[in-house]
Amino acid sequence: MEKLRTVRGVHDLLPNELHKHNIVINAGLEISDKYNYSQIETPIFEFSEVFTKPLGMSSDIVTKENYIFKDRSEDELMLRPEGTSGVVRAFLNAGLVQDVPQRFSYYGPMFRYERPQKGRLRQFKQIGVECLGLSSSMADIEVISLGHDFLNKLDLLDKINLTINTLGDFESRQKYRDALINYLKGYQTKLSKDSIRRLSINPLRILDSKDPDDQKIIKHSPNILDFLNFESKIRFEEICKGLDHLNIKYNIDKNLVRGLDYYCHTAFEFVTNELGTQGTVLAGGRYDGLSKMLGGSDIPGVGWAAGIERLSLMISSEFVKQTDVVLMGQAESFNYLLLPIMKKLIQEGIKSEIIYTGNFSKKFKRANKINASYAIILGEEEINDKIFKFKNLKSGIEELLNLDQIIKKLKN
Ligand code: ATP
Ligand code: MG
Repeated sequence: MEKLRTVRGVHDLLPNELHKHNIVINAGLEISDKYNYSQIETPIFEFSEVFTKPLGMSSDIVTKENYIFKDRSEDELMLRPEGTSGVVRAFLNAGLVQDVPQRFSYYGPMFRYERPQKGRLRQFKQIGVECLGLSSSMADIEVISLGHDFLNKLDLLDKINLTINTLGDFESRQKYRDALINYLKGYQTKLSKDSIRRLSINPLRILDSKDPDDQKIIKHSPNILDFLNFESKIRFEEICKGLDHLNIKYNIDKNLVRGLDYYCHTAFEFVTNELGTQGTVLAGGRYDGLSKMLGGSDIPGVGWAAGIERLSLMISSEFVKQTDVVLMGQAESFNYLLLPIMKKLIQEGIKSEIIYTGNFSKKFKRANKINASYAIILGEEEINDKIFKFKNLKSGIEELLNLDQIIKKLKN
């Protein structure tokens, strides 16, 4: 029979890889907690409009990459492509608008129908933070600093650079957008197909194009920084000042944008060149327009999301199975006697495994394989005395002990 496969771009996570994911996740949750961000979880699927409304028809995530389906009640649902929309929706539904600021962290799987490659999957995991209800540039600085500390915790900062930019407020962006369209129209025949399509619906997104010909054109495009009104300019200066103050190094890239309509002002990315074209490991920005697009009141927000797979590709840590103690009996019938003993050990917080089958030689091999530190051996002679052979598998030393004595030793 043919083996059943997983769907393209969707992978199993075996212990070794999952171990790395968990290192990334734990580092992220821990540092978020220290910054006073509380963990939140939203559903993996939602009514499509939670994503289509704010992300808009100009976004690839919604037009080309979505996993959309109807359930049995004909409701149109979407597997979430990103976390922010769901978190803001949850915040609005919970009536937390009167109780701002709210700081959230989250992690979990996201789904996008993309061309799978290294660091680009169809089911992948993100960890992210959202700071809601603060329009001050301090919040932008805070979330960038949080991202920076997160990557530092993973010891990755020497391989990752921070790039920032501003998209200005609505007014500045509108002016810039017009200038950009004007400029790009001069190259209409040379732009990639995707970019020509974007020219009318989302021209800023063209700046994000990976097409080499597009990139040549973009290089000399108008600079957003020349179109900022006074307020937006000051705001961007405050961000730079705050990062300088924290000794966080950054480059300014005038072509860094976030492709979605609800973004404004600050945009930032932490990028490595160790992962080829999938180098962006953490990306974020300010999204003051999002809450309103979701039907809520005008609540400013800023946050980021990091790709867990991409970060785990960068860390070197191997999962090694460790076992505190293995239990083995002389005959298979002894396994029954070992069961309550294992239960007792586990209750004491000791990681235990009964090796059920094989002769002693096979059982010791298995103990070695799972890196067991000790073995509790039950032989014919000990069976009536409630006494066990307790063997230190590293030193080879054996003693005859009762269970209480063994637990005491194991807990030391
Ligand atoms: P890219 O330009 O790489 O497509 P993006 O702009 O679509 O990224 P965001 O929506 O900002 O990415 O998501 C934040 C982070 O999530 C990315 O920086 C990346 O690390 C990760 N990510 C995004 N899409 C994928 C994917 N398909 N597979 C794995 N990780 C992803
Ligand atoms: Mg993408």
